[in-house]
Amino acid sequence: MTDLHRLSVREMAEGLKSAQFSSRELTQHYLDRIAKIDQHVKSYVTVTPEHALAQADAADGLLKSGMAGALTGVPLAHKDIFCTQGIKTTAGSKILDNFISPYDATVVSKAKAAGLVTLGKVNMDEFAMGSTSESSYYGATKNPWNLDCVPGGSSGGSAAAVAADLTPIATGTDTGGSIRQPASFCGLTGLKPTYGRVSRFGMIAYASSLDQGGPMARSAEDCAYLMNVMAGHDQKDSTSVNKDVDDYVADLNATTVKGLRIGIPKQYFNVQGLDADVKARVEESLKKLEEMGATLVEIDLNMTDAYVPTYYLIAPAEASSNLQRYDGVRYGYRAENPKDILDLYKRSRSEGFGAEVQRRILIGTYALSAGYYDAYYVKAQKVRRLIQQDFLKAFESVDVIAAPSAPTTAYKIGASLDPVEMYLGDIYTIAVNLAGLPAINAPVGFDANNLPVGLQLIGNYWSESQLLSVVHQYQQATDWHTKRAAIAEENA
Ligand code: GLN
Repeated sequence: MTDLHRLSVREMAEGLKSAQFSSRELTQHYLDRIAKIDQHVKSYVTVTPEHALAQADAADGLLKSGMAGALTGVPLAHKDIFCTQGIKTTAGSKILDNFISPYDATVVSKAKAAGLVTLGKVNMDEFAMGSTSESSYYGATKNPWNLDCVPGGSSGGSAAAVAADLTPIATGTDTGGSIRQPASFCGLTGLKPTYGRVSRFGMIAYASSLDQGGPMARSAEDCAYLMNVMAGHDQKDSTSVNKDVDDYVADLNATTVKGLRIGIPKQYFNVQGLDADVKARVEESLKKLEEMGATLVEIDLNMTDAYVPTYYLIAPAEASSNLQRYDGVRYGYRAENPKDILDLYKRSRSEGFGAEVQRRILIGTYALSAGYYDAYYVKAQKVRRLIQQDFLKAFESVDVIAAPSAPTTAYKIGASLDPVEMYLGDIYTIAVNLAGLPAINAPVGFDANNLPVGLQLIGNYWSESQLLSVVHQYQQATDWHTKRAAIAEENA
């Protein structure tokens, strides 16, 4: 079969169970596609063919013996922020270029236990700091819809790999939009779960109070399958929440769009820099949901102006603390011939970290320093609480909140080099992380340049099932999620 990559995850799992094809064939099919197509997309940092085929053979054994789980033998790619035992984990940074983790992240061990086959590790902005994937030490990943454009970030490798059919599903992480925005730029579905739903153990830390892993795939249904694997309490992560996990696949039809109250924040649709095509496509998708029985309710989110300054204080503050551990002593890049220990620290960090990471460490260190701590960091935490309260108030009158995922579609590689401009592009995603809420991106059409537009739906705490279900029903009634970039139509 030459078109295995066009199957949904459910169809893949069914095909494996009914022995229409083996996991080895399916895995080899993706490895062949990666070998042929990824030179143009550059989504993978590390491809692991031997490891993948060994996992595939093990999966085929389980499938034959009737011991297979729901996803046994289905391939996936991990964002290179999840530690993988025996396989390099770089977080897109030179400082971790030689790092091989002695253990698996919980998300990785759960994927293994579910019988998923790891094709490799995919590219990302350095330490997940960015919105374009250009800050990776391994170079920029290209957007499959237009190879001159960015795929978004920081989970740009995950998004590009799925959009080019170089993996059916991928893990991502979202600290301020890094699942939703690349999903939006690449025409995919991506879910950022409630803070605490997916374990952060073994996920390289950027800003620990905001970081959350989640699934990226073509459809809500595919995401639900991966979410069933990723979600759950983990004693190794003290912020993981001990709460029953939904069956996201079984719940795909649990919420009806009929009667759903969708909040439309007035402030969000008047943001300066909101592209006219993005606005139009998002409004059309809301109209469609209205036709399907939803009610649109105008709401106020008065703290909108505070999102970017608050996030860009708290995230760098936490990053500056988390990144202290890269000192050239214990692991990672070490400067050559240091004069003394200070010289070792200084040069290892100056040579090992890229410009954007250094900028954030400086901002964060400044914000946390004695004398400025109260004026910046403590104040930002107070504003963060007000942002959360703004959402909770809105959820008293609506079930979900709609927004674009990003103010624009994908832009040209090299176009966003002014950092403040890039930060402003995060306006629609970062408040969700500050509040710890779940949110999903769904593809809802294209702009005049045939680049995908995404709708974001923000839910109340623990409403992942509801978000996936609403998007699933939208996707039953529309076909935007089935559209493929030309490069994905190429056969290996
Ligand atoms: N673009 C945002 C940032 O640079 C979000 C990144 C992320 O979610 N990891 O911080």
